[in-house]
Amino acid sequence: MTEVAEAPKGGAEGELSRISHWIGGRSVVGESGRSGPVYNPATGVQTGVVDFASIEEIDRAVAAAKDAFPAWRTVSLSRRTETFFRIRELVHAHREDLARLLTAQHGKVLSDAMGEVQRGLEVIEFCCGIPELLKGGFSEQASTGIDVYSIRQPLGVVAGITPFNFPAMVPMWMWAPALACGNTFVLKPSEKDPSASILTAQLLKEAGVPDGVFNVIHGDKVAVDRLLEHPDVTAVSFVGSTPIARYVYETGTQQGKRVQALGGAKNHMIVLPDADIEMAADAAVSAAYGSAGERCMAVSQVVAVGDVADPLIAAIKARIPKVKVGDGLEPDSEMGPLVTREHRDKVASYLEGAGSEGGTVVVDGRESAPEGDGFFLGVSLIDDLKPGMKAYDDEIFGPVLGVTRVATYDEAVRLVNENPYGNGTAIFTRDGGVARQFQFEVQAGMVGINVPIPVPVAYYSFGGWKASLFGDTHIYGPEGINFYTRGKVVTQRWPDPATSKVDLGFPQTR
Ligand code: NAD
Repeated sequence: MTEVAEAPKGGAEGELSRISHWIGGRSVVGESGRSGPVYNPATGVQTGVVDFASIEEIDRAVAAAKDAFPAWRTVSLSRRTETFFRIRELVHAHREDLARLLTAQHGKVLSDAMGEVQRGLEVIEFCCGIPELLKGGFSEQASTGIDVYSIRQPLGVVAGITPFNFPAMVPMWMWAPALACGNTFVLKPSEKDPSASILTAQLLKEAGVPDGVFNVIHGDKVAVDRLLEHPDVTAVSFVGSTPIARYVYETGTQQGKRVQALGGAKNHMIVLPDADIEMAADAAVSAAYGSAGERCMAVSQVVAVGDVADPLIAAIKARIPKVKVGDGLEPDSEMGPLVTREHRDKVASYLEGAGSEGGTVVVDGRESAPEGDGFFLGVSLIDDLKPGMKAYDDEIFGPVLGVTRVATYDEAVRLVNENPYGNGTAIFTRDGGVARQFQFEVQAGMVGINVPIPVPVAYYSFGGWKASLFGDTHIYGPEGINFYTRGKVVTQRWPDPATSKVDLGFPQTR
Protein backbone atom coordinates (compact mmCIF):
# COMPACT_ATOMS: atom_id res chain seq x y z
CA MET A 1 0.00 0.00 0.00
CA THR A 2 1.30 3.44 -0.89
CA GLU A 3 2.39 5.63 1.96
CA VAL A 4 0.87 9.03 1.48
CA ALA A 5 3.48 11.74 0.83
CA GLU A 6 4.45 13.29 4.10
CA ALA A 7 1.73 15.67 5.18
CA PRO A 8 2.94 19.26 5.46
CA LYS A 9 3.51 20.12 9.08
CA GLY A 10 4.54 23.62 10.06
CA GLY A 11 2.53 25.55 12.59
CA ALA A 12 3.33 26.07 16.22
CA GLU A 13 5.96 23.33 16.40
CA GLY A 14 7.72 24.99 13.47
CA GLU A 15 8.63 21.59 12.08
CA LEU A 16 9.03 21.78 8.30
CA SER A 17 8.50 18.87 5.94
CA ARG A 18 11.19 18.41 3.32
CA ILE A 19 10.09 17.76 -0.24
CA SER A 20 12.73 15.95 -2.26
CA HIS A 21 13.19 14.76 -5.83
CA TRP A 22 12.00 11.41 -7.22
CA ILE A 23 14.57 9.82 -9.49
CA GLY A 24 14.72 6.23 -10.72
CA GLY A 25 11.78 5.08 -8.59
CA ARG A 26 12.88 6.47 -5.22
CA SER A 27 13.04 9.65 -3.21
CA VAL A 28 16.35 11.46 -3.64
CA VAL A 29 17.28 14.20 -1.19
CA GLY A 30 18.60 17.25 -2.98
CA GLU A 31 22.24 18.17 -2.48
CA SER A 32 22.44 21.49 -4.30
CA GLY A 33 22.14 23.48 -1.10
CA ARG A 34 19.34 25.50 -2.73
CA SER A 35 15.68 25.25 -1.72
CA GLY A 36 12.43 27.18 -1.56
CA PRO A 37 9.71 27.67 1.06
CA VAL A 38 6.28 26.04 0.85
CA TYR A 39 3.39 27.70 2.70
CA ASN A 40 -0.07 26.89 3.89
CA PRO A 41 -1.77 29.89 2.25
CA ALA A 42 -4.73 29.70 4.63
CA THR A 43 -2.55 30.34 7.69
CA GLY A 44 0.39 32.11 6.07
CA VAL A 45 2.69 29.68 7.88
CA GLN A 46 5.64 28.01 6.15
CA THR A 47 5.06 24.26 6.26
CA GLY A 48 7.80 22.87 4.07
CA VAL A 49 11.07 23.26 2.25
CA VAL A 50 11.40 22.05 -1.31
CA ASP A 51 14.79 21.08 -2.72
CA PHE A 52 15.90 22.93 -5.85
CA ALA A 53 17.78 20.66 -8.24
CA SER A 54 21.30 21.28 -9.44
CA ILE A 55 22.25 20.67 -13.07
CA GLU A 56 23.86 17.38 -12.02
CA GLU A 57 20.62 16.23 -10.33
CA ILE A 58 18.61 17.06 -13.43
CA ASP A 59 21.08 15.13 -15.52
CA ARG A 60 20.59 12.14 -13.19
CA ALA A 61 16.83 12.30 -13.64
CA VAL A 62 17.14 12.50 -17.41
CA ALA A 63 19.64 9.62 -17.37
CA ALA A 64 17.22 7.50 -15.31
CA ALA A 65 14.47 8.24 -17.84
CA LYS A 66 16.79 7.48 -20.75
CA ASP A 67 17.81 4.12 -19.24
CA ALA A 68 14.18 3.18 -18.65
CA PHE A 69 13.03 4.06 -22.18
CA PRO A 70 14.13 1.00 -24.23
CA ALA A 71 12.28 -1.45 -21.97
CA TRP A 72 9.19 0.75 -21.47
CA ARG A 73 8.68 1.32 -25.19
CA THR A 74 8.67 -2.44 -25.82
CA VAL A 75 6.02 -3.17 -23.17
CA SER A 76 3.04 -4.51 -25.10
CA LEU A 77 -0.04 -2.36 -25.54
CA SER A 78 -2.11 -4.80 -23.51
CA ARG A 79 0.32 -4.63 -20.57
CA ARG A 80 0.51 -0.84 -20.77
CA THR A 81 -3.29 -0.74 -20.74
CA GLU A 82 -3.36 -3.01 -17.70
CA THR A 83 -0.93 -0.66 -15.95
CA PHE A 84 -3.09 2.32 -16.80
CA PHE A 85 -6.17 0.67 -15.34
CA ARG A 86 -4.18 0.13 -12.13
CA ILE A 87 -3.03 3.78 -12.16
CA ARG A 88 -6.64 4.84 -12.60
CA GLU A 89 -7.75 2.73 -9.62
CA LEU A 90 -4.95 3.99 -7.35
CA VAL A 91 -5.38 7.67 -8.21
CA HIS A 92 -9.11 7.26 -7.70
CA ALA A 93 -8.58 5.56 -4.32
CA HIS A 94 -6.19 8.33 -3.23
CA ARG A 95 -8.10 11.24 -4.73
CA GLU A 96 -8.83 12.76 -1.35
CA ASP A 97 -5.18 12.41 -0.25
CA LEU A 98 -4.15 14.25 -3.39
CA ALA A 99 -6.86 16.86 -2.91
CA ARG A 100 -5.80 17.50 0.70
CA LEU A 101 -2.22 18.13 -0.44
CA LEU A 102 -3.56 20.62 -3.00
CA THR A 103 -5.60 22.47 -0.38
CA ALA A 104 -2.67 22.49 2.04
CA GLN A 105 -0.20 24.04 -0.42
CA HIS A 106 -2.29 25.83 -3.05
CA GLY A 107 -5.16 26.92 -0.81
CA LYS A 108 -8.11 26.00 -3.05
CA VAL A 109 -11.13 24.63 -1.19
CA LEU A 110 -11.28 20.86 -0.80
CA SER A 111 -14.32 20.38 -3.07
CA ASP A 112 -12.51 22.29 -5.82
CA ALA A 113 -9.34 20.25 -5.24
CA MET A 114 -11.41 17.05 -5.57
CA GLY A 115 -12.76 18.44 -8.85
CA GLU A 116 -9.21 19.06 -10.06
CA VAL A 117 -8.21 15.45 -9.36
CA GLN A 118 -11.39 14.23 -11.07
CA ARG A 119 -10.64 16.19 -14.27
CA GLY A 120 -7.12 14.76 -14.26
CA LEU A 121 -8.49 11.25 -13.75
CA GLU A 122 -10.55 11.69 -16.90
CA VAL A 123 -7.31 12.11 -18.87
CA ILE A 124 -5.92 8.92 -17.28
CA GLU A 125 -9.15 7.12 -18.24
CA PHE A 126 -8.77 8.34 -21.83
CA CYS A 127 -5.26 6.86 -21.83
CA CYS A 128 -6.66 3.45 -20.81
CA GLY A 129 -7.77 3.28 -24.46
CA ILE A 130 -4.22 3.62 -25.76
CA PRO A 131 -4.35 0.59 -28.12
CA GLU A 132 -7.18 2.23 -30.03
CA LEU A 133 -5.47 5.64 -29.93
CA LEU A 134 -2.22 4.34 -31.39
CA LYS A 135 -3.84 2.46 -34.25
CA GLY A 136 -2.31 3.33 -37.61
CA GLY A 137 -3.67 3.19 -41.16
CA PHE A 138 -3.16 0.44 -43.73
CA SER A 139 -3.55 0.62 -47.51
CA GLU A 140 -3.45 -2.74 -49.18
CA GLN A 141 -2.23 -2.85 -52.79
CA ALA A 142 -1.18 0.80 -52.92
CA SER A 143 0.72 -0.27 -55.99
CA THR A 144 0.85 -3.73 -57.47
CA GLY A 145 2.07 -6.03 -54.73
CA ILE A 146 2.81 -3.09 -52.46
CA ASP A 147 1.13 -2.19 -49.17
CA VAL A 148 1.59 1.02 -47.20
CA TYR A 149 0.93 1.47 -43.51
CA SER A 150 1.50 4.09 -40.83
CA ILE A 151 2.58 3.65 -37.24
CA ARG A 152 3.21 6.06 -34.37
CA GLN A 153 6.22 5.63 -32.11
CA PRO A 154 7.25 7.30 -28.83
CA LEU A 155 9.79 10.13 -28.77
CA GLY A 156 12.00 9.01 -25.86
CA VAL A 157 12.58 11.17 -22.77
CA VAL A 158 10.05 13.98 -22.55
CA ALA A 159 9.74 16.71 -19.93
CA GLY A 160 6.82 18.57 -18.36
CA ILE A 161 7.02 21.95 -16.61
CA THR A 162 3.87 22.90 -14.74
CA PRO A 163 2.25 25.90 -12.97
CA PHE A 164 1.11 26.32 -9.37
CA ASN A 165 -2.60 26.54 -10.04
CA PHE A 166 -3.33 22.90 -10.94
CA PRO A 167 -0.56 20.92 -9.20
CA ALA A 168 -2.14 17.51 -9.86
CA MET A 169 -4.27 17.92 -12.99
CA VAL A 170 -1.91 19.75 -15.34
CA PRO A 171 0.90 17.19 -14.74
CA MET A 172 -1.69 14.47 -15.51
CA TRP A 173 -2.47 16.21 -18.83
CA MET A 174 1.17 15.54 -19.70
CA TRP A 175 2.51 12.39 -18.06
CA ALA A 176 -0.57 10.26 -18.71
CA PRO A 177 -0.51 10.49 -22.54
CA ALA A 178 3.30 10.61 -22.59
CA LEU A 179 3.66 7.34 -20.67
CA ALA A 180 0.75 5.67 -22.44
CA CYS A 181 2.51 6.35 -25.75
CA GLY A 182 5.68 4.65 -24.46
CA ASN A 183 7.79 7.67 -23.48
CA THR A 184 9.60 8.19 -20.19
CA PHE A 185 9.04 11.40 -18.27
CA VAL A 186 10.74 14.07 -16.17
CA LEU A 187 8.33 16.41 -14.37
CA LYS A 188 9.35 19.82 -13.01
CA PRO A 189 6.31 20.92 -11.01
CA SER A 190 5.72 24.35 -9.53
CA GLU A 191 7.96 24.98 -6.55
CA LYS A 192 5.01 26.58 -4.73
CA ASP A 193 2.97 23.38 -4.26
CA PRO A 194 5.24 20.43 -5.10
CA SER A 195 3.93 17.58 -2.90
CA ALA A 196 1.12 16.28 -5.15
CA SER A 197 3.71 15.28 -7.76
CA ILE A 198 5.56 13.14 -5.21
CA LEU A 199 2.38 11.32 -4.16
CA THR A 200 1.69 10.80 -7.87
CA ALA A 201 5.16 9.24 -8.28
CA GLN A 202 4.48 6.87 -5.38
CA LEU A 203 1.14 5.84 -6.87
CA LEU A 204 2.68 5.19 -10.29
CA LYS A 205 5.32 2.99 -8.68
CA GLU A 206 2.66 1.03 -6.82
CA ALA A 207 0.73 0.64 -10.07
CA GLY A 208 3.73 -1.13 -11.58
CA VAL A 209 5.28 1.66 -13.64
CA PRO A 210 8.97 0.64 -13.82
CA ASP A 211 11.57 2.72 -12.02
CA GLY A 212 12.89 5.59 -14.13
CA VAL A 213 9.79 5.85 -16.32
CA PHE A 214 8.44 8.74 -14.20
CA ASN A 215 10.77 11.17 -12.40
CA VAL A 216 10.19 14.41 -10.53
CA ILE A 217 12.75 17.14 -10.05
CA HIS A 218 11.93 20.27 -8.11
CA GLY A 219 13.40 23.65 -8.75
CA ASP A 220 13.40 26.95 -10.53
CA LYS A 221 14.89 28.45 -13.69
CA VAL A 222 18.08 26.40 -13.29
CA ALA A 223 16.06 23.19 -13.66
CA VAL A 224 13.94 24.52 -16.52
CA ASP A 225 16.95 25.78 -18.46
CA ARG A 226 18.81 22.49 -18.09
CA LEU A 227 15.78 20.53 -19.34
CA LEU A 228 15.51 22.89 -22.32
CA GLU A 229 19.12 22.39 -23.32
CA HIS A 230 19.61 18.73 -22.36
CA PRO A 231 20.38 16.76 -25.54
CA ASP A 232 18.47 13.67 -24.33
CA VAL A 233 15.20 15.52 -23.76
CA THR A 234 13.26 15.21 -27.01
CA ALA A 235 10.12 17.20 -26.21
CA VAL A 236 8.88 19.68 -23.63
CA SER A 237 5.33 20.43 -22.52
CA PHE A 238 4.91 23.66 -20.59
CA VAL A 239 1.94 25.29 -18.90
CA GLY A 240 2.34 28.63 -17.13
CA SER A 241 2.40 32.38 -17.73
CA THR A 242 2.79 33.85 -21.22
CA PRO A 243 6.29 35.38 -20.85
CA ILE A 244 7.73 32.06 -19.61
CA ALA A 245 5.74 30.06 -22.16
CA ARG A 246 7.21 32.19 -24.95
CA TYR A 247 10.71 31.77 -23.50
CA VAL A 248 10.32 27.99 -23.13
CA TYR A 249 8.99 27.68 -26.68
CA GLU A 250 11.73 29.80 -28.24
CA THR A 251 14.57 28.21 -26.25
CA GLY A 252 13.35 24.65 -26.61
CA THR A 253 12.70 24.85 -30.34
CA GLN A 254 16.10 26.48 -30.90
CA GLN A 255 17.53 23.36 -29.28
CA GLY A 256 15.63 21.25 -31.81
CA LYS A 257 13.00 20.02 -29.39
CA ARG A 258 9.31 19.61 -29.97
CA VAL A 259 7.58 22.11 -27.65
CA GLN A 260 4.00 22.89 -26.69
CA ALA A 261 3.85 25.88 -24.34
CA LEU A 262 0.50 27.00 -22.97
CA GLY A 263 0.40 30.52 -21.57
CA GLY A 264 -1.83 32.94 -19.72
CA ALA A 265 -5.29 34.23 -20.48
CA LYS A 266 -7.82 37.02 -20.24
CA ASN A 267 -11.12 35.26 -20.77
CA HIS A 268 -14.08 37.39 -21.82
CA MET A 269 -17.69 36.43 -21.23
CA ILE A 270 -20.10 38.29 -23.48
CA VAL A 271 -23.63 38.76 -22.17
CA LEU A 272 -26.22 39.79 -24.75
CA PRO A 273 -29.43 41.68 -23.85
CA ASP A 274 -31.57 38.57 -24.47
CA ALA A 275 -29.56 36.39 -22.04
CA ASP A 276 -31.03 34.77 -18.96
CA ILE A 277 -29.61 37.27 -16.46
CA GLU A 278 -29.83 35.01 -13.40
CA MET A 279 -28.03 32.22 -15.28
CA ALA A 280 -25.37 34.63 -16.56
CA ALA A 281 -24.82 36.12 -13.08
CA ASP A 282 -24.45 32.66 -11.50
CA ALA A 283 -21.98 31.70 -14.24
CA ALA A 284 -19.95 34.90 -13.89
CA VAL A 285 -19.66 34.55 -10.11
CA SER A 286 -18.60 30.90 -10.16
CA ALA A 287 -16.24 31.30 -13.12
CA ALA A 288 -14.61 34.50 -11.83
CA TYR A 289 -14.18 33.65 -8.16
CA GLY A 290 -13.86 29.83 -8.14
CA SER A 291 -10.37 28.82 -7.04
CA ALA A 292 -9.86 32.51 -6.12
CA GLY A 293 -9.68 33.32 -9.84
CA GLU A 294 -6.42 31.37 -10.15
CA ARG A 295 -7.56 29.40 -13.18
CA CYS A 296 -6.37 29.95 -16.72
CA MET A 297 -9.98 29.45 -17.80
CA ALA A 298 -11.44 31.81 -15.18
CA VAL A 299 -13.75 34.47 -16.55
CA SER A 300 -11.95 37.70 -15.72
CA GLN A 301 -13.88 40.10 -17.94
CA VAL A 302 -17.61 40.37 -18.55
CA VAL A 303 -18.61 42.27 -21.67
CA ALA A 304 -22.13 43.58 -21.14
CA VAL A 305 -23.93 44.45 -24.36
CA GLY A 306 -26.56 47.20 -24.51
CA ASP A 307 -28.92 47.60 -21.59
CA VAL A 308 -28.00 44.30 -19.94
CA ALA A 309 -25.19 45.95 -17.92
CA ASP A 310 -27.13 47.48 -15.02
CA PRO A 311 -29.35 44.47 -14.19
CA LEU A 312 -26.40 42.08 -14.70
CA ILE A 313 -24.10 44.03 -12.39
CA ALA A 314 -26.88 44.23 -9.80
CA ALA A 315 -27.40 40.45 -10.01
CA ILE A 316 -23.65 39.77 -9.65
CA LYS A 317 -23.36 42.24 -6.78
CA ALA A 318 -26.26 40.58 -4.97
CA ARG A 319 -24.47 37.22 -5.10
CA ILE A 320 -21.07 38.44 -3.89
CA PRO A 321 -21.82 38.64 -0.15
CA LYS A 322 -22.87 34.98 -0.26
CA VAL A 323 -19.43 33.79 -1.42
CA LYS A 324 -17.91 32.36 1.77
CA VAL A 325 -14.16 33.01 1.86
CA GLY A 326 -12.10 30.92 4.27
CA ASP A 327 -9.71 28.05 4.90
CA GLY A 328 -10.18 25.46 2.16
CA LEU A 329 -10.52 22.68 4.72
CA GLU A 330 -13.58 24.30 6.32
CA PRO A 331 -16.61 22.56 4.79
CA ASP A 332 -18.55 25.77 4.18
CA SER A 333 -15.67 27.67 2.49
CA GLU A 334 -16.32 28.34 -1.18
CA MET A 335 -13.19 30.32 -1.94
CA GLY A 336 -9.77 29.94 -0.34
CA PRO A 337 -6.75 32.24 -0.12
CA LEU A 338 -4.35 33.18 -2.91
CA VAL A 339 -1.22 31.14 -3.32
CA THR A 340 1.34 33.54 -1.81
CA ARG A 341 1.41 36.81 0.08
CA GLU A 342 3.19 38.52 -2.85
CA HIS A 343 0.56 37.35 -5.31
CA ARG A 344 -2.28 38.47 -3.01
CA ASP A 345 -0.70 41.92 -2.70
CA LYS A 346 -0.20 42.18 -6.45
CA VAL A 347 -3.85 41.29 -7.10
CA ALA A 348 -4.95 43.84 -4.50
CA SER A 349 -2.85 46.54 -6.21
CA TYR A 350 -5.16 46.38 -9.25
CA LEU A 351 -8.01 47.60 -7.04
CA GLU A 352 -5.91 50.56 -5.98
CA GLY A 353 -5.02 51.38 -9.59
CA ALA A 354 -8.40 50.79 -11.27
CA GLY A 355 -10.07 53.86 -9.76
CA SER A 356 -7.33 56.22 -10.88
CA GLU A 357 -7.57 54.86 -14.43
CA GLY A 358 -11.31 55.50 -14.73
CA GLY A 359 -12.69 52.16 -13.56
CA THR A 360 -15.45 52.01 -10.92
CA VAL A 361 -14.75 49.67 -8.02
CA VAL A 362 -18.21 48.31 -7.23
CA VAL A 363 -17.07 45.76 -4.64
CA ASP A 364 -13.60 45.98 -3.05
CA GLY A 365 -12.35 42.58 -1.84
CA ARG A 366 -9.80 44.19 0.46
CA GLU A 367 -12.68 45.17 2.73
CA SER A 368 -14.03 41.63 3.16
CA ALA A 369 -10.86 39.53 3.47
CA PRO A 370 -10.89 37.21 6.51
CA GLU A 371 -8.70 38.32 9.40
CA GLY A 372 -5.40 36.61 10.14
CA ASP A 373 -2.11 35.92 8.42
CA GLY A 374 -3.56 33.83 5.57
CA PHE A 375 -3.16 35.15 2.03
CA PHE A 376 -6.83 36.07 1.72
CA LEU A 377 -8.56 38.63 -0.43
CA GLY A 378 -12.32 38.94 -0.75
CA VAL A 379 -14.00 39.02 -4.14
CA SER A 380 -14.01 42.24 -6.18
CA LEU A 381 -16.03 43.70 -9.01
CA ILE A 382 -14.82 46.60 -11.17
CA ASP A 383 -17.12 48.30 -13.68
CA ASP A 384 -16.22 50.55 -16.65
CA LEU A 385 -12.94 48.89 -17.60
CA LYS A 386 -11.56 49.49 -21.07
CA PRO A 387 -8.53 48.43 -23.10
CA GLY A 388 -5.51 50.50 -22.08
CA MET A 389 -6.29 50.24 -18.36
CA LYS A 390 -4.00 47.89 -16.43
CA ALA A 391 -6.88 46.06 -14.75
CA TYR A 392 -8.25 45.31 -18.23
CA ASP A 393 -5.02 44.55 -20.06
CA ASP A 394 -3.24 42.37 -17.47
CA GLU A 395 -4.01 38.81 -16.47
CA ILE A 396 -4.77 39.58 -12.80
CA PHE A 397 -5.13 35.89 -11.82
CA GLY A 398 -7.16 36.61 -8.72
CA PRO A 399 -10.77 37.04 -7.56
CA VAL A 400 -11.34 40.28 -9.48
CA LEU A 401 -14.05 40.47 -12.14
CA GLY A 402 -14.01 43.37 -14.57
CA VAL A 403 -16.97 44.63 -16.57
CA THR A 404 -16.80 46.46 -19.89
CA ARG A 405 -19.92 48.06 -21.32
CA VAL A 406 -20.40 48.08 -25.10
CA ALA A 407 -23.34 49.02 -27.33
CA THR A 408 -23.35 46.14 -29.82
CA TYR A 409 -22.46 42.47 -30.35
CA ASP A 410 -19.89 43.52 -32.99
CA GLU A 411 -18.08 45.73 -30.49
CA ALA A 412 -18.03 42.87 -27.98
CA VAL A 413 -16.54 40.39 -30.45
CA ARG A 414 -13.97 42.95 -31.55
CA LEU A 415 -12.80 43.28 -27.93
CA VAL A 416 -12.26 39.52 -27.69
CA ASN A 417 -10.58 39.28 -31.07
CA GLU A 418 -8.26 42.23 -30.48
CA ASN A 419 -7.12 40.90 -27.11
CA PRO A 420 -3.60 39.44 -27.23
CA TYR A 421 -4.77 36.31 -25.38
CA GLY A 422 -7.11 33.72 -26.87
CA ASN A 423 -7.56 30.93 -24.35
CA GLY A 424 -11.27 30.66 -23.57
CA THR A 425 -14.34 32.79 -24.14
CA ALA A 426 -18.08 32.49 -23.63
CA ILE A 427 -21.32 34.00 -24.85
CA PHE A 428 -24.60 34.11 -22.97
CA THR A 429 -27.66 34.48 -25.18
CA ARG A 430 -30.95 32.82 -26.10
CA ASP A 431 -30.30 33.37 -29.81
CA GLY A 432 -28.85 30.25 -31.47
CA GLY A 433 -28.03 32.13 -34.67
CA VAL A 434 -25.90 34.70 -32.85
CA ALA A 435 -24.20 31.98 -30.81
CA ARG A 436 -23.35 30.15 -34.02
CA GLN A 437 -21.96 33.33 -35.57
CA PHE A 438 -19.86 33.86 -32.43
CA GLN A 439 -18.44 30.34 -32.61
CA PHE A 440 -17.59 30.98 -36.27
CA GLU A 441 -15.74 34.27 -35.88
CA VAL A 442 -14.30 34.42 -32.39
CA GLN A 443 -10.49 34.21 -32.04
CA ALA A 444 -10.06 31.81 -29.13
CA GLY A 445 -9.29 28.14 -28.73
CA MET A 446 -12.11 27.16 -26.39
CA VAL A 447 -15.61 28.57 -26.67
CA GLY A 448 -18.57 28.28 -24.31
CA ILE A 449 -22.17 28.90 -25.32
CA ASN A 450 -24.04 29.56 -22.07
CA VAL A 451 -21.12 27.67 -20.46
CA PRO A 452 -18.62 29.90 -18.65
CA ILE A 453 -15.59 27.59 -18.32
CA PRO A 454 -15.48 25.48 -21.49
CA VAL A 455 -12.58 23.17 -20.54
CA PRO A 456 -12.79 20.38 -23.14
CA VAL A 457 -13.55 16.85 -21.95
CA ALA A 458 -10.58 14.47 -22.01
CA TYR A 459 -11.31 13.08 -25.49
CA TYR A 460 -11.00 16.53 -27.06
CA SER A 461 -7.83 18.60 -26.71
CA PHE A 462 -7.18 21.71 -24.63
CA GLY A 463 -5.45 24.80 -25.96
CA GLY A 464 -5.77 28.48 -26.67
CA TRP A 465 -4.87 30.75 -29.57
CA LYS A 466 -2.60 33.78 -29.86
CA ALA A 467 -0.46 34.48 -26.74
CA SER A 468 -2.18 31.64 -24.86
CA LEU A 469 -0.33 28.91 -26.78
CA PHE A 470 3.07 28.67 -28.44
CA GLY A 471 3.45 25.68 -30.72
CA ASP A 472 0.97 23.92 -32.94
CA THR A 473 -0.35 21.16 -30.73
CA HIS A 474 -3.01 21.43 -28.06
CA ILE A 475 -2.61 19.37 -24.91
CA TYR A 476 -4.18 15.96 -23.98
CA GLY A 477 -6.87 14.23 -26.09
CA PRO A 478 -6.00 13.22 -29.65
CA GLU A 479 -3.52 16.09 -30.08
CA GLY A 480 -1.70 14.95 -26.93
CA ILE A 481 -1.23 11.53 -28.49
CA ASN A 482 0.16 13.17 -31.63
CA PHE A 483 2.48 15.40 -29.61
CA TYR A 484 4.05 12.48 -27.75
CA THR A 485 4.55 10.29 -30.84
CA ARG A 486 6.26 10.48 -34.22
CA GLY A 487 4.69 9.13 -37.36
CA LYS A 488 6.37 6.54 -39.54
CA VAL A 489 5.05 5.24 -42.86
CA VAL A 490 6.16 1.83 -44.08
CA THR A 491 5.98 0.74 -47.72
CA GLN A 492 6.33 -3.00 -48.08
CA ARG A 493 6.56 -5.56 -50.87
CA TRP A 494 6.70 -9.30 -50.44
CA PRO A 495 7.35 -11.73 -53.26
CA ASP A 496 4.16 -13.31 -54.62
CA PRO A 497 4.54 -17.06 -53.92
CA ALA A 498 2.84 -17.90 -57.29
CA THR A 499 5.25 -15.94 -59.47
CA SER A 500 8.27 -15.51 -57.32
CA LYS A 501 11.46 -17.07 -58.31
CA VAL A 502 12.01 -18.26 -54.78
CA ASP A 503 12.45 -22.02 -54.93
CA LEU A 504 10.24 -23.54 -52.28
CA GLY A 505 11.53 -27.01 -52.93
CA PHE A 506 13.92 -28.90 -50.74
CA PRO A 507 17.29 -27.09 -50.89
CA GLN A 508 19.59 -28.81 -53.34
CA THR A 509 23.26 -28.38 -53.63
CA ARG A 510 23.12 -27.80 -57.40
P1 NAD B 1 4.85 30.62 -14.13
O1 NAD B 1 5.02 30.91 -15.57
O2 NAD B 1 5.38 31.60 -13.15
O3 NAD B 1 5.53 29.21 -13.75
C1 NAD B 1 5.28 28.05 -14.51
C2 NAD B 1 6.49 27.14 -14.43
O4 NAD B 1 7.62 27.82 -14.98
C3 NAD B 1 6.87 26.76 -13.00
O5 NAD B 1 7.24 25.40 -12.96
C4 NAD B 1 8.03 27.69 -12.68
O6 NAD B 1 8.96 27.11 -11.77
C5 NAD B 1 8.68 27.89 -14.03
N1 NAD B 1 9.32 29.21 -14.15
C6 NAD B 1 8.96 30.36 -13.52
N2 NAD B 1 9.78 31.37 -13.89
C7 NAD B 1 10.67 30.87 -14.77
C8 NAD B 1 11.76 31.42 -15.50
N3 NAD B 1 12.09 32.70 -15.40
N4 NAD B 1 12.46 30.61 -16.32
C9 NAD B 1 12.14 29.30 -16.44
N5 NAD B 1 11.11 28.73 -15.76
C10 NAD B 1 10.38 29.49 -14.94
O7 NAD B 1 3.28 30.38 -13.90
P2 NAD B 1 2.51 30.17 -12.52
O8 NAD B 1 2.46 31.47 -11.82
O9 NAD B 1 3.01 28.98 -11.82
O10 NAD B 1 1.05 29.78 -13.08
C11 NAD B 1 0.08 30.75 -13.40
C12 NAD B 1 0.09 31.04 -14.88
O11 NAD B 1 -0.12 29.84 -15.60
C13 NAD B 1 -1.04 31.96 -15.31
O12 NAD B 1 -0.53 32.87 -16.25
C14 NAD B 1 -2.05 31.03 -15.94
O13 NAD B 1 -2.91 31.61 -16.89
C15 NAD B 1 -1.16 30.03 -16.57
N6 NAD B 1 -1.85 28.78 -16.82
C16 NAD B 1 -2.18 28.50 -18.12
C17 NAD B 1 -2.88 27.35 -18.39
C18 NAD B 1 -3.26 27.01 -19.80
O14 NAD B 1 -3.70 25.90 -20.01
N7 NAD B 1 -3.10 27.90 -20.76
C19 NAD B 1 -3.23 26.46 -17.36
C20 NAD B 1 -2.84 26.77 -16.07
C21 NAD B 1 -2.15 27.95 -15.80
